[in-house]
Amino acid sequence: MKLGTKLIHAGVTPDPSTGAIMTPIFQTSTYVQNAPGDHKGYEYARTQNPTRDALQNALAAIENGKYGISFGSGLAATDAVMKLLQPGDEVIASNDLYGGTYRIFTKIFERYGIKFHFIGMQDAENIRQYVNKNTKLLWIETPTNPLLNIIDIAASAKIAKENKLLLCVDNTFASPYLQNPLDLGADIVVHSATKYLGGHSDVVHGAIVVKEEALAKQLYFIQNSCGAVPGPQDCFLVLRGLKTLHVRMQRHCENGAVIAQFLRQHPKVAKVHWCGFEDHPNHHIAKQQMRGFGGMISFTLKDDSQEAAFKVLSGTHLFSLAESLGGVESLIGHPASMTHASIPREERIANGLVDSLIRLSVGIEDAEDLIADLSKAIG
Ligand SMILES: *Cc1c(COP(=O)(O)O)cnc(C)c1O
Repeated sequence: MKLGTKLIHAGVTPDPSTGAIMTPIFQTSTYVQNAPGDHKGYEYARTQNPTRDALQNALAAIENGKYGISFGSGLAATDAVMKLLQPGDEVIASNDLYGGTYRIFTKIFERYGIKFHFIGMQDAENIRQYVNKNTKLLWIETPTNPLLNIIDIAASAKIAKENKLLLCVDNTFASPYLQNPLDLGADIVVHSATKYLGGHSDVVHGAIVVKEEALAKQLYFIQNSCGAVPGPQDCFLVLRGLKTLHVRMQRHCENGAVIAQFLRQHPKVAKVHWCGFEDHPNHHIAKQQMRGFGGMISFTLKDDSQEAAFKVLSGTHLFSLAESLGGVESLIGHPASMTHASIPREERIANGLVDSLIRLSVGIEDAEDLIADLSKAIG
């Protein structure tokens, strides 16, 4: 089955008691048993919920995995992956990560004795020199946030296999419409479903998808034991969002391309980061592992003062100044003070995330209107 069909049908069957085509929101905390231990597969709603089951099965199908595991947020999903590790274990992560991921690694899991190496991975071979006997996990985000760097997933997976490491890919930016890390050799895919999967800026949700049963069992155990589960209403909203992912992503990609070109030829713009440009350093890898280039773009102005950037940030009307991304409406943001404020300034700047960088999540409005809006704000 192809992705568009899976997005609409996978995991979902009409409700057996009524025929409702949409999976109902099972807003219940517990389930009645006929006799002790004689039940319909549902005992307590932290452990199982039918709305969540439908979503988890859909998520597994669209990432070409076998098991979907849902969480109350993307970071709760990340938290669960890290709980596969033991004190003394080491993680190699890319140095251009979502700020909240960097924060949970350094401020929470370092305290529990896990060691992190944040490194440049645009050349995947660079990973090898950081692998030692304690290394257990490779953590990759690609395209990266907010600089749109590309990391070669297949090459990273090869290094992971050779060294018996788990490879986890945060696929939030690409979504399964553009990229399927499990097909490229990754062991674990993580999503902030808050973004493209939900797609309507109305829910916070996270997901993990894996292929291996043993790994899935550990993750379901962590999901139930630690309890960062999503509510059924949120599962319903993500399920509903998934049904149009392919249609939305197609438009995000079209609009993204038009706006990236517009910014690039603008006399006041210095640099545009977008992995669809042929001269993007890893464009050839993006072309291999992705089916399109998405709607995330970042750029700097020739006037590199924070003041000039702030003028643009507060000058748009259709692009709303807000954190987050991946919704139908266009957003504009300032990573240094918003999404990436939790990364120390020296570290940010060393990795190219300068104070004047502006990030766009290009929505699915009409491109002409979006360009007119940016044009006016840039001046
Ligand atoms: C937003 C985001 C997260 C965190 O997800 P939440 O749902 O906000 O907890 C993780 N990774 C990336 C790439 C994100 O954009």
